[in-house]
Amino acid sequence: MGKLDGRVVLVTGAARGQGEQEARLFRAAGARVVVADVLDGRGKALAEEIGASYVHLDVGTEDGWREAVAAVKRTYGRIDGLVNNAGILRFNALVDTPLDEFMQVVRVNQVGCFLGMKAVAPEMADGGTIVNTASYTALTGMAAVGAYAATKHAVLGLTRVAALELAARRIRVNAICPGAVDTAMANPARLDPDADPEETSRALDELYRGLVPLGRIGRPEEVARLALFLTSDDSSYITGQPFVIDGGWLAGISVV
Ligand code: NAD
Repeated sequence: MGKLDGRVVLVTGAARGQGEQEARLFRAAGARVVVADVLDGRGKALAEEIGASYVHLDVGTEDGWREAVAAVKRTYGRIDGLVNNAGILRFNALVDTPLDEFMQVVRVNQVGCFLGMKAVAPEMADGGTIVNTASYTALTGMAAVGAYAATKHAVLGLTRVAALELAARRIRVNAICPGAVDTAMANPARLDPDADPEETSRALDELYRGLVPLGRIGRPEEVARLALFLTSDDSSYITGQPFVIDGGWLAGISVV
């Protein structure tokens, strides 16, 4: 028996990175998985490989969500789980951030999460689950990522409100707050076909050795296991909460 047997789960931003690992793990746990992304080539290839289906979805568009939810209902007749994972990051000091850039980050990270819950929750089976991807920067500041941190704080607010509003239907809504994770977002060398992923990961582990108590960067497979916990009955009495997965980064500082 898989932990997600019989459940239909849509994962946004699932063509690569954490979303890809979530799609793989959920499929292995018995779910019927819908891979949603704007990277159609990668998303379709992944869906074919793991026996999932693919929908093109730009999470910042209400029409896109309407069409994606209709496609899931047509294919599977139901939807039991949503992982709002799609996200983008831009680096800039607050005073140097152009409004367009700020709004671009808001559109994907914050509006995307809002629209996802708005479109999916009314169609979701009672007892369903929503996992929103926030960040370590939803709970603390980090210089040079003002737009990103603002949207991730907002994702936590949306998570708590949705948990309260959807509890009567036993729909649970939680957020995951990763620290640094070895995907293209934190390790752009992963997008360079000439780079050796093992080597870049080793370099990042070295970088994080002095920053993070557990002494290395996180792996997307580790985040996927947390998303599985929050999507399965293993977390049946948990809703409205942020779950930090950061190798101890937020625990405090060490002066010795
Ligand atoms: P990633 O860049 O590898 O993956 C992001 C995915 O989102 C990509 O597949 C991308 O195509 C998709 N995406 C971007 N804009 C989209 C849109 N408008 N509509 C649909 N899909 C879109 O990075 P990742 O690390 O896998 O990021 C996944 C989530 O984890 C994001 O929400 C990110 O903010 C969050 N996160 C990442 C880290 C990290 O260090 N990697 C840390 C904390 C939180």
